[in-house]
Amino acid sequence: MRIWEEYALNGGLLIVFSGPSGVGKDTVFQHFLSLGSGVKKSISCTTRKHRGNEVDGIDYEYLTPEEFARRQSEGFFLESAQYGKYMYGTPREWLEQQIAQGSDIILVIEVMGALEVKRLRPDCVTIFLAPPSIEELERRLRDRNTESEADIVTRLAKAREELQFVTHYDYIIENDSVEKAAQELNAIIIAQRNRVKRGANRL
Ligand code: 5GP
Repeated sequence: MRIWEEYALNGGLLIVFSGPSGVGKDTVFQHFLSLGSGVKKSISCTTRKHRGNEVDGIDYEYLTPEEFARRQSEGFFLESAQYGKYMYGTPREWLEQQIAQGSDIILVIEVMGALEVKRLRPDCVTIFLAPPSIEELERRLRDRNTESEADIVTRLAKAREELQFVTHYDYIIENDSVEKAAQELNAIIIAQRNRVKRGANRL
């Protein structure tokens, strides 16, 4: 028997990687995946329309507002949040099964949902990806070229609001370089895996 099997170290980690829209969560996350950490990403549901190169069932599961609301009323989501005009939610069952089997799961979600997950599962690890500045965030949102001017204005206002919540998180990573941010994310996960006592950081 491995020595740590005597202790309560069963089950995978629940990692919540979060931060304002446009900060580069997905880019940092893609880079992080190339580091071969073995962490699995939860696939969210959304009522937003599918963007250019996104794939249904990989990037999101795209639902009608009616279907989203139906699932929500049945307790299908661990957390859900409205972001701009759309709904986003984390399916509960897959995540719970995976964690019970010992897989480490990462959620890449916005700030309100992240705080809700922390409230429901205080043993999760929350990581906030911060932009170097609001000006830089605005530049990145514009360069992405996927949102209308109205959506950019909404997202920037939301980002200012979201930055206030950083103190509720366990960790912060500044996204001044994608490679460095991905490595820091990897380092945090490695450290968490090696903790003797989990769930020590509570809101
Ligand atoms: P986008 O429309 O740009 O793909 O996503 C908008 C925001 O919603 C991003 O900050 C993204 O991380 C977040 N998001 C994606 N999936 C979920 C989810 O399941 N729950 C919550 N709360 N936010 C999500």
